[in-house]
Amino acid sequence: MGTGAPLTLLALSPAETAAAFERLGARPFHARIARAQVFEHGLLDYARMSALPLSLRERLTAELPILSGTELDAREAADGTRKLLLRFEGTRSVEVETVHIRSSTPGRAATLCVSSQAGCPVGCPFCASGLLGLARNLEAHEILEQYVRGRALGPLARSVVMGMGEPLLNFERLARALDVVHDEMGLGARAITVSTVGFPDRLRRIAPTRPRFQLAISLHSPDQSQRDELVPAMRGVPIAEIVAAADDWFEQTGREVTYEYALLGECNDSPEHAERLARLLARHRATINLIPWNPVAAPKASPWKRPSAAAVERFRAALTERGLVATVRWSKGVQADAACGQLRLRHASGSGKPD
Ligand code: SF4
Repeated sequence: MGTGAPLTLLALSPAETAAAFERLGARPFHARIARAQVFEHGLLDYARMSALPLSLRERLTAELPILSGTELDAREAADGTRKLLLRFEGTRSVEVETVHIRSSTPGRAATLCVSSQAGCPVGCPFCASGLLGLARNLEAHEILEQYVRGRALGPLARSVVMGMGEPLLNFERLARALDVVHDEMGLGARAITVSTVGFPDRLRRIAPTRPRFQLAISLHSPDQSQRDELVPAMRGVPIAEIVAAADDWFEQTGREVTYEYALLGECNDSPEHAERLARLLARHRATINLIPWNPVAAPKASPWKRPSAAAVERFRAALTERGLVATVRWSKGVQADAACGQLRLRHASGSGKPD
């Protein structure tokens, strides 16, 4: 999967895996079995792959590790949300979060929230990942490792690339990982959502490649100066240009864009904000996903507030009354520190022990 990558199964393409298995005296079908066990079933230990000869399992265990990362922490909230903190060495040792979100419908498979970068360069002031800045891009195999570790926790129905990082700033590696998720894990284009702050030029470059995922754009405000504050890396990029790029995306891919809007109490949750947002998105094909902000375990006192349930409902109703499709997503797993960046912040600030 690229030069300089460690010799692990996740860093190899199917053809490279077959070649590596042959060097260990195995047959190409053994490589196919091993990859299916990892990607389809989340089996991360060769010793448990009983369809492979015992001697091969021993050789693989010694010579071709499956994973490169280490699990530093795992927490489970009362609602079953599980959050993993992983360490990857690579060019620089980094810590990354992945969240396995159990469905509230019994028996239904989970959603996995994946990080695309270690930290984030966008710098949203209300986000724990933004507070620490960017450490480095994740390699494709490191993104993939989050998927297989998530699959090891249970079947996945959906995945959202909404953890740490801005996916369009590490898109080539993300796209390589998502190809494997699509082809070998079996998650379809409708089951994968990539969430971005919406760089218009990048969206226009990617759309013609017909990417196999749903697009979500984090807007957070219909007001240019407020958005410039809330999404600093996009300062000066006109909101209208982002909406135009999203319209082009829909035309080229045939897939509707979702707008994400983090509702911050007494900041961007007023009736005026709802009115302006409705005017901005009227006559555009879009769904709006309202995300009541989740307090972060930030190192210093945070000025942001969780919006009241009444304000959230008022905001949603104002949008739907004006003919827009708006849903509310209350973030799950607050006890597991499931807002992006929180678990890593705890470790960084030395308070990583479970409460
Ligand atoms: S909210 Fe998203 S884009 Fe903004 S700093 Fe956090 S991870 Fe980056």
